[in-house]
Amino acid sequence: MAKKPTLQRWSVEDSAELYGIRNWGAGYFDISPEGDVVIRPSGRKNPVSVSIPSIITGMRERGLDMPVLLRIENILDSQISSLHESFRKAIKTLGYRGEYRGVFPIKVNQQQQVVEAIARFGSHYHHGMEVGSKAELFAALSQLRDEEACLICNGYKDEEFIDLGLYALRLGYLCFFVVEMPSELDLIIERAERMGVKPLIGVRAKLASKASGHWSESGGERSTFGLSTTQIVDAVDTLRAHNMLDCFKLLHYHLGSQVSNIRDIRGAVMEASRIYAGLVKEGAPMGYLDLGGGLAVDYDGSRTNFLSSRNYSLDEYCTDVVEAVMTILDESDTAHPSIITESGRATVAYYSMLLFNILDVSQIEHKSESNTGEAGEADEIPVIPDDAPEATQNLLQVLNGLTLRNLQECYNDAIYYRDEVRQQFLHGKVSLRERTIAERLFWVIIKRIALAKQKLPHIPKDLAEIDLVLADIYYGNFSVFQSLPDSWAIGQLFPVMPVHRLAEVPTRQAILSDITCDSDGRIDHFIDVNQGVKKTLDVHELKDGEEYYLGVFLVGAYQETLGDLHNLLGDTNVVSVRINDDGEYEFMRELRGDSVADILSYVEYDPRRIVEGLRKVAERAVRTERIKPAERQMIMQAFEDGLRGYTYYER
Ligand SMILES: *Cc1c(COP(=O)(O)O)cnc(C)c1O
Repeated sequence: MAKKPTLQRWSVEDSAELYGIRNWGAGYFDISPEGDVVIRPSGRKNPVSVSIPSIITGMRERGLDMPVLLRIENILDSQISSLHESFRKAIKTLGYRGEYRGVFPIKVNQQQQVVEAIARFGSHYHHGMEVGSKAELFAALSQLRDEEACLICNGYKDEEFIDLGLYALRLGYLCFFVVEMPSELDLIIERAERMGVKPLIGVRAKLASKASGHWSESGGERSTFGLSTTQIVDAVDTLRAHNMLDCFKLLHYHLGSQVSNIRDIRGAVMEASRIYAGLVKEGAPMGYLDLGGGLAVDYDGSRTNFLSSRNYSLDEYCTDVVEAVMTILDESDTAHPSIITESGRATVAYYSMLLFNILDVSQIEHKSESNTGEAGEADEIPVIPDDAPEATQNLLQVLNGLTLRNLQECYNDAIYYRDEVRQQFLHGKVSLRERTIAERLFWVIIKRIALAKQKLPHIPKDLAEIDLVLADIYYGNFSVFQSLPDSWAIGQLFPVMPVHRLAEVPTRQAILSDITCDSDGRIDHFIDVNQGVKKTLDVHELKDGEEYYLGVFLVGAYQETLGDLHNLLGDTNVVSVRINDDGEYEFMRELRGDSVADILSYVEYDPRRIVEGLRKVAERAVRTERIKPAERQMIMQAFEDGLRGYTYYER
């Protein structure tokens, strides 16, 4: 553990380093001299910045309660531009004779406001959409107006999906069908012939190349979707037999998401380029090579091939991709295709953050009266009565005999005697109060050990874990299941930090619990700049009467619709902010989160009938003189207000 400077010498620079904000923030996030997290809307190049606490104040003034999902439109705009500009630069530098076309895979964030913003910001670049179902196709059609932007239909397609896509093509959309299963091709041919439309056909290749990581099964030979090379050649023959080989325009693959190693990316591009060249040789016109998603986000800021990071920059990704395509295709004098990528995660992750307040703290120790800030001094050794159980007397001896040399031994003994007291309590030999005295003594010992162990040159593993046991629990006003499903489901690391008070030293170590009553509703792995992952977060002591706000960053990808209604906590409030060049900002949109009634209706309750039912119960209470009619009025009002209210904790 890095040694912390003393209270007086702590500065925002120390906070910046501790939380790694400049490593994972991609230039969009930093800390102001006042100790607030600030947003730099267009990355490092722009001096304008806006503090998150000031946005929180603005939200509160508008009656928007925590938790809030805050979206910064400029960041999305900037991410889309960077992607296109990086590809343009690589294409120009390398002399590639084809274009870049980006598409946004809607599944990564299907929210209407997000897709709309992507269509808007992407329009200078002909940024298109990728869809995987009929509903997503409608979502794309509702926002996309650009005839040069690609509309890629992936996913398993039924007749209706195909017809809708063919109609979209007739309306002028550049709508491609990507064949994911051999059987789909026959259906596409049949529907297209019947409609008299020449479809734009692509195939998804199952590559032998694989990437390591959580999502690698979506690529590689074992992936459920895609055609093997044999099946791709069969597709060529089928199309030729129907006199439709001229419709074969695109080759697609998707290696999986968050591909953190550039070597995996390069390997896949090379293999796909070989297949592409082979298809051209077979007589397919082609013209588009679609490399799928996979462009990773450096969530922990380590720039490594660690799962939550990536060992390449955006420029390196673009250069490597373009160069690999060129190298392979030039060997056979194959014309350079338009390169498509389907980057979802990298496009939207930075754009959203979850903000929430801390409602309560649970600490092992009792708070000291004097509040000196020195850990250890506050430990009160409980008064041990003369007739205390022997195990308790032994605990006291352990405490008195504690030295730097015998920490491990004391630790083992403390646990042994504590367990003995608990056993005796179970057998009725120790009273509740006696047990409590022993437990308190035990924690005094553990805290002494925790403090002393820092002086050891090498900390044994058992003792290192004490920090976690002693960590506070900070209760945050949010639901992991609703807002950060990947943190729970696959242990995804997101940057988490306080968004203010960063000029103060964070004196507490905490894990975060949400307000669901589920023991999995917690965040207990955090970015550690030195060691990758740590189990507690450095936080500040709460101040009376003052809210303490934390932010979870880089949550724009995949988190919004994967979330569920655990404990019937619903969608959070959403606020979209646009920052102007002069540093002023506007609340562009706000979306109220689910009300209690909304959530109940999702799970088939009818809020009106709930009120009716309660009214009957209240009337009966009046009849039996439990309550007065005026109280009935007041109680019913409270129930009705409650149904209209937010599902989260309201102050
Ligand atoms: C999920 C998915 C993507 C998005 O991948 P990212 O790694 O988020 O960019 C792209 N294409 C297809 C076919 C997908 O299934």
